[in-house]
Amino acid sequence: MTSDLGVYAIRFAHREASVRGEHFYGHDPCSEAPFPIDYYVWLITSDEHTVLVDAGFTPATARQRGNRYYLQSPMETIAALGSDAGQVSHLVLSHLHYDHVGHLADFPAASVVLQEAELAFWTSRHAGRGEHARLADPEATASLVRENFTGRVRLVNGEYEVVPGVTVHRVGGHTPGLQVTRVESARGTVVLAADATHFFENIEGDRPYGVVNHLPAMYEAFDTVRALAGPEGVVVPGHDPRVRERFPAVAGLEGMAARIV
Ligand SMILES: [Zn+2]
Repeated sequence: MTSDLGVYAIRFAHREASVRGEHFYGHDPCSEAPFPIDYYVWLITSDEHTVLVDAGFTPATARQRGNRYYLQSPMETIAALGSDAGQVSHLVLSHLHYDHVGHLADFPAASVVLQEAELAFWTSRHAGRGEHARLADPEATASLVRENFTGRVRLVNGEYEVVPGVTVHRVGGHTPGLQVTRVESARGTVVLAADATHFFENIEGDRPYGVVNHLPAMYEAFDTVRALAGPEGVVVPGHDPRVRERFPAVAGLEGMAARIV
């Protein structure tokens, strides 16, 4: 166990024009009810390491896709938290949807940790089909393929230790190589679930999200996240505005950074 790991949820954008029906698999009796969504990256810091989970999306992407209100870039909030983008030694990518990879180029010093199955899918013959194409970031995917030749990308299979106290675990379900990140700090265990559970309601109500690659894997992912957290640990969902209710805001960064541990 590492004694000095701090974990922050950094909220960089949100979308209010969103309804329940988009976010839950199968029939929902209140499918037209408003259901806002937040967009996050997560920062893990210690004296030795700065690890970032996911790379968000850019203001240009927010404008292009519409309806997304951009607060400030993850790099600005990371600086306000006392780190800087150039110090990020490891960038964990939960999966390759556009809202998790947009600022890849802004963390040039970081080695990128990604499941091999995830990159394999996005370079496969199915990547450009239907919903996958809508959620893809072709530029970021192409740059990962390029960077894999420079040694910057670490493609992993299953469980992998990023730095002491921080491990990734492949779960799939939402995308083929989706991974979650577990942090074991002296103050407790945190599972940064990203899109293994977009909202608390997905995992707490056993209700899969609407974008499904493999439904049994999605249920299995809920079980894996619960097991990784253990009875005392906390699970941080990927897109839930209630993160701001359950975890305290960082002073001066209200609405943009919450301290998890
Ligand atoms: Zn997402």
